[in-house]
Amino acid sequence: MNPASRSARLLVIGLDGATYDLLVPWAESGRMPNLARLMATSARAVVNSTRPYITPVAWTTFQTGCDPHEHGILDYRYLDHRHRRVLLNHAGRIGRPTLFDAVSAAGGEVVSLNLPMTFPAPSSVRGIVVGGLDSPSIDAALAPYPEFARELRATGARFDLGTVWRNKPRTFEELSQGIDETASIFRGQATAAAVADRMTDWQLMFVQLQVLDSLQHRCWQWLDPRQGSTAELWMSKAQQALRALDDCLGELMELAARRNAAVVAVSDHGFGPFRGKITLAEILSRAGLLCWPRGGPAASYYLRHGVWRLRKFLYRRFNPGWSTAQLTRPLGTLLPIDWRRSTALALHGNLGGLIYLNTRERFASGPLKTAGQRERALADVIQAFETAAHPQTGEPLFVEVFGTAERYGIDPVEKLWPDVVAIPAAGFHTRHKFDARPQLLRTDPGMAATHRLEGVLLLHAPRVAAGAYRPAELRDVAPTLLQMLGLRVPAHMSGQALADLLSGGARRTSPEPRAEPRELQLAGITDADQRSVEARLRDLGYLD
Ligand SMILES: [Zn+2]
Repeated sequence: MNPASRSARLLVIGLDGATYDLLVPWAESGRMPNLARLMATSARAVVNSTRPYITPVAWTTFQTGCDPHEHGILDYRYLDHRHRRVLLNHAGRIGRPTLFDAVSAAGGEVVSLNLPMTFPAPSSVRGIVVGGLDSPSIDAALAPYPEFARELRATGARFDLGTVWRNKPRTFEELSQGIDETASIFRGQATAAAVADRMTDWQLMFVQLQVLDSLQHRCWQWLDPRQGSTAELWMSKAQQALRALDDCLGELMELAARRNAAVVAVSDHGFGPFRGKITLAEILSRAGLLCWPRGGPAASYYLRHGVWRLRKFLYRRFNPGWSTAQLTRPLGTLLPIDWRRSTALALHGNLGGLIYLNTRERFASGPLKTAGQRERALADVIQAFETAAHPQTGEPLFVEVFGTAERYGIDPVEKLWPDVVAIPAAGFHTRHKFDARPQLLRTDPGMAATHRLEGVLLLHAPRVAAGAYRPAELRDVAPTLLQMLGLRVPAHMSGQALADLLSGGARRTSPEPRAEPRELQLAGITDADQRSVEARLRDLGYLD
């Protein structure tokens, strides 16, 4: 690109879950002048997120400029079938270098505040990288930066992992408290950015506004000024959070202006009304792929499950501080199913069906022994999801269903990936839990809205032409940012810089030689850490 339109610095605002469906009316309402100014002066793209479009997957694609099958992250969790454990993904499991690595390698310093999938902070990155909602605690995320933590605490600002919206507010008091806390988190993020700005000579600063996602999950109907809601008092209270968001944007834009930095706002996925939760086990069971145990059904499962928990407890008792992640879990304790007859199962995944075939390679037992049996089971699973329909409306419940080996040319067993991915129709979650009374679709009164595929990207930089929405992919963002910084785009980034949005004819800088994939660090977090992160994600409605 034209050297004159390069920026020495870039401030990126992570608007988790932001959608034009709300940003546009918010900007037009006149109550968010900073957002209105940012939108009016930015080049805009509608950004297709990852499949599944879920926070840790999408933000990993943002960081690495490549798709999930390239960086390896497909959900909050993954199945380590060698130990039959469902474990939490973390930054050490990202298989490609990140945007932050690229800036650091070129000699620049970075600041990243609360971006998901940055904990534990990679030691290769220069600057301050404080993890987000998937960190065990804010203290753990701040631990590598005691001086920053001290300065930040001295301001008295709220800076935490933002577990505010545990449910949809049922009373005005609940709404008020949640909105006030949300506003204080927005203010805290702007303060934290100002503190980090004083302490570093950053080239790339990332500030994550995570609480926007949970605010929308729980309060969607009071956030859209176009809706003629009768709950005027509730709406005007909710607007206070938006004003705090606007103040935060204003402060960040001012900070960027002082440093001569370009401003980019980006979301990991869009948002829209919630419709229901699809029970994956019910689809598999109706297709005869998942079988319940005959005879005394779940009793033996719960007995074996109890024994397993006791064994883990004793292990921890006699090996304090050790992770039990390397213990192999007895197969019978993993799910209350008939393992000899079930050919397919789901063990995790809340915004996508992630289905594992019960093969010898994966579970060391199971009915699928030959390649032919495996192929047939794969086809049956795909068909079961492609034909799964809404019991009332008859519409398809899944919009995209594919085998991972065929689509990506990978070995899903070696990669610790599911064999089939099924992306639900807009507005639906998936659930892998089992129920006494199976139901294909369930409601969740605590969930007002949820993710959509289409997110936002606003580029505000000198000589970037404002206006016009252009389609883009989330993997394109990292190469675009590197190009704005005048840095080389690493070859592993399969995204393309959005050259037409950047002025000056934007020439693509010659790619670097292909970097070696990052070595995966499997033992990244302890059992206790995993439990506290899962509890937080469950509180926020992100995990069943
Ligand atoms: Zn998100």
